[in-house]
Amino acid sequence: MWSTAREIAEGDLVIVWMTRDLVQPLAISSGKELNTRFGVYRHAELIGVPYGSKIGSRNGKGFIHLLRPTPELWTLALPHRTQILYLADIAFITSWLDIKPGSHVIEAGTGSGSFSHSTARTVGPTGHLWSYEFHEARANKAREEFSSHGMDEIVTLTHRNVCKEGFTVVDTVDSVFLDLPAPWDAVEHAKKALRKDRATRICCFSPCMEQVQRTIIALNDAGFTEITMYETLIRPHQVDVTPPLPTVSTIGNQLKEMEARREAKRLRQIANSRSRGDKRKREETEDSAEDQSAEKRHADEVDGSGKRHVEQTP
Ligand code: SAH
Repeated sequence: MWSTAREIAEGDLVIVWMTRDLVQPLAISSGKELNTRFGVYRHAELIGVPYGSKIGSRNGKGFIHLLRPTPELWTLALPHRTQILYLADIAFITSWLDIKPGSHVIEAGTGSGSFSHSTARTVGPTGHLWSYEFHEARANKAREEFSSHGMDEIVTLTHRNVCKEGFTVVDTVDSVFLDLPAPWDAVEHAKKALRKDRATRICCFSPCMEQVQRTIIALNDAGFTEITMYETLIRPHQVDVTPPLPTVSTIGNQLKEMEARREAKRLRQIANSRSRGDKRKREETEDSAEDQSAEKRHADEVDGSGKRHVEQTP
């Protein structure tokens, strides 16, 4: 599908890996520059570099990895025109639909082509994928991408409304995958496209239970059997370093130290309140002694009529 050469060449599609959450496709065209927050890179300088290389920016402030595209990386990097299918669903659906090298498969709609790239790689040149999309601009963009990714031989993209007009092949495919808002309207058409000489499979991908219920009714009416419903969830685990648990004796010592600190504080508080009490008593005693001597002085100054003596100097 993509370049299999060891080194990057003019016109190649490269996946630029900056961080886990920042992955972007890059079509190599000498004369252009890649401007990222991890530095500026001239395309011309990337030509001849082996796929998988880590490249430092010109000012030495950052670096990027240049990876060979795969469907998995394309799903992370592709320009979104619609909601897309991710690894967990794609892998599960591929497995349950028994899609393998040489399989003949239908998908509708094409959307952003995430499922298409994975399926094209799986079926390979001995198989075929018929992809249908009723949004014209999306169909054209996907056709362009399939072509530039070297998938022309493996994928046939048709611009049409499959719910109204059905599919372009009859009694041909091993499996049908429907990622449409109203898959129930395409179930009878899918039945016609599926081959009749062996057991075949259909998968309808819907986010809402109401859609699932309507699809199940349509599948039952069309005579499909062994109908089941699954939800796929992927849960990445984050690994953190946790310190080892303390021993019982360490915890015992910590408790003892805490208890000792509490006791010392209690004793300090008692001592403080005692010394405050003593000080207050001392002050009260001093105050009353002062009061008494003041009273005495006052009495000396006042005569029997209660009037103050005015000492007159001659
Ligand atoms: N599985 C795709 C995403 C599909 S999004 C991916 O992994 O990238 C659903 C697409 O179905 C949309 O692009 C929408 O335009 C198309 N669609 C909706 N109804 C349709 C119909 N009746 N016929 C064909 N395409 C249809």
